[in-house]
Amino acid sequence: MADSKPTIELLIAAPRGFCAGVDRAIQIVEMAIERYGAPVYVRHEIVHNKFVVDSLRAKGAVFVETLDQVPDGVPVVFSAHGVPKAVPEKAQERGLTYVDATCPLVSKVHRQAERLVAAGKHILFIGHAGHPEVIGTFGQVPGGGMTLVETAADVEKLTPVDPDNLAFLTQTTLSVDDTAATVAALKARFPTIIAPKADDICYATSNRQAAVKAIASSVDLVLVIGAPNSSNSLRLVEVAERQGTDAKLVQRATDLDFTWLEGVGSLGISAGASAPELLVRELVDHIATRFDVTEREVRTAEENITFKPPRGLQAA
Ligand code: SF4
Repeated sequence: MADSKPTIELLIAAPRGFCAGVDRAIQIVEMAIERYGAPVYVRHEIVHNKFVVDSLRAKGAVFVETLDQVPDGVPVVFSAHGVPKAVPEKAQERGLTYVDATCPLVSKVHRQAERLVAAGKHILFIGHAGHPEVIGTFGQVPGGGMTLVETAADVEKLTPVDPDNLAFLTQTTLSVDDTAATVAALKARFPTIIAPKADDICYATSNRQAAVKAIASSVDLVLVIGAPNSSNSLRLVEVAERQGTDAKLVQRATDLDFTWLEGVGSLGISAGASAPELLVRELVDHIATRFDVTEREVRTAEENITFKPPRGLQAA
């Protein structure tokens, strides 16, 4: 008689995976390939997920890091994270056809930055140094218009020229809890600082963090599907860890080390905003090769937001 498999309960967080901005960015690349024919160049990974990037590459997308790497006469798409203003300007100068796949929620932050600087404010921008979204947002305003604040501890070190003429904005994919602490520190030190009208952390980031928070204390381990350069995926790992639960980031099912599951009776699963649902199914199926699996989805919010691709591309 065959040995019976050990049992494991999977608590699957919802919402998880693709957000409206990622879905739109992928559609834009696919539609651009259909309209212009391959190759279509994409400046930076369209979204931070290797599986998505590889799938688009197989359809005719070519991923590069700078506009200089785009040959003359071929169309180029800008990634969902947004780009500094200088990038479309340069594309225009070169006569390149370009499509901007910046998430509308990132563009909203860009417009706020422009308005605040035009009104004479200095912006304290809460975000992670080097992330493409931060580079893109800094590139919306003239140099010196914005200062980066990474943590609540950074607030002490700030030396603004005019402490009564400040505003703050944030990256869209931050930790909700950390950002609240940084904002509190900013407001305590600069009581007149202007806050954004609505939270800049996007709905998808907040919903995915709340869903992981809801399952983390009921499980022995949390697995988050996402890329190591995906800000919102890394934040999901941190959310679970802060609930006192071990958590690991995996890109694909094959990254799973089965020794992690020794002694694990219940396992939480989530996926970052750039990870497709089929990678969740792949992981569950992989676990089922060694365990008798029961699955339960724990949903903390409904999402029905969609963003349309740009009009010109749709008309094609
Ligand atoms: Fe847009 Fe938020 Fe998705 Fe980023 S995570 S692409 S800001 S919806």
